Amino acid sequence: MKPSHVIALLLLLLNFLLTACSSTSREKEEVTPDAKDHTVLAVLWQQNAAEYRALCYQAFNSAKRKIQRSGLSDQPLALITDIDETVLDNSPYSGMQILYDRAFDREDWIEWGLQKSAKALPGAVAFFRYADSMGVEVFYISNRYEEQLAETLENMAALGLPNADAEHVFLKTNSSEKQSRRDRVLEEHHVLMYLGDNLSDLSSVFDGQGTVQRNLLVDELAEAFGDRFIVFPNAIYGDWESKGIYESGRDWTDTQRDSIRRAKVVSYK
Ligand SMILES: [Mg+2]
Repeated sequence: MKPSHVIALLLLLLNFLLTACSSTSREKEEVTPDAKDHTVLAVLWQQNAAEYRALCYQAFNSAKRKIQRSGLSDQPLALITDIDETVLDNSPYSGMQILYDRAFDREDWIEWGLQKSAKALPGAVAFFRYADSMGVEVFYISNRYEEQLAETLENMAALGLPNADAEHVFLKTNSSEKQSRRDRVLEEHHVLMYLGDNLSDLSSVFDGQGTVQRNLLVDELAEAFGDRFIVFPNAIYGDWESKGIYESGRDWTDTQRDSIRRAKVVSYK
């Protein structure tokens, strides 16, 4: 082979290698997922699907029948409800996360709360006012930050929700677990039911459990749903994702989370 041919061949090889390297790094850039792209359909579902509205009405109708069936009690009657995605619809916060590529961020969440513009879930205001009119005291136990109390109460009061005051709204202080706050209500009330979009809103047996155990416990407690436990749909976020899909791992990168999600999809082939 002539020396000029060898040089040409080497240049061709070099060019090939450079092209291969640059396209690999470009592909890597392209597949790095945005923090919340995977929630687009869930957010659209909550904001658009008539089926979502129907499920909310179905839940509140079950809750109303529970009150209608309630008998006499020595103690005053009460119910305990979560707030986010059970009373208030925060999907505009989730929408912002998608459009601005934002993972959950405390300051963003507080900014959204300060808007005081969360709408009530379909059927929520009518149901809680009905409970109030029937002498059932409404207690709200939420893991919103305690510093969000004032704007949360204002948002709720503006919607016409009953018991929107500091004696009935218990936000998160130093722990996400809700049983100690439920116990405060249980000391002097007969609690008819618990309402929430997250199983830990209903009972501490679900706290910290992964996917398999959560499903087993739900099967064991099947009779309670629609009766003592009223569950609301939330396909955007919850323990089903953080403790279930990601198994409580907090330090995964967006790419790792994407891999974990894909690895857990069940396919027939
Ligand atoms: Mg909630």
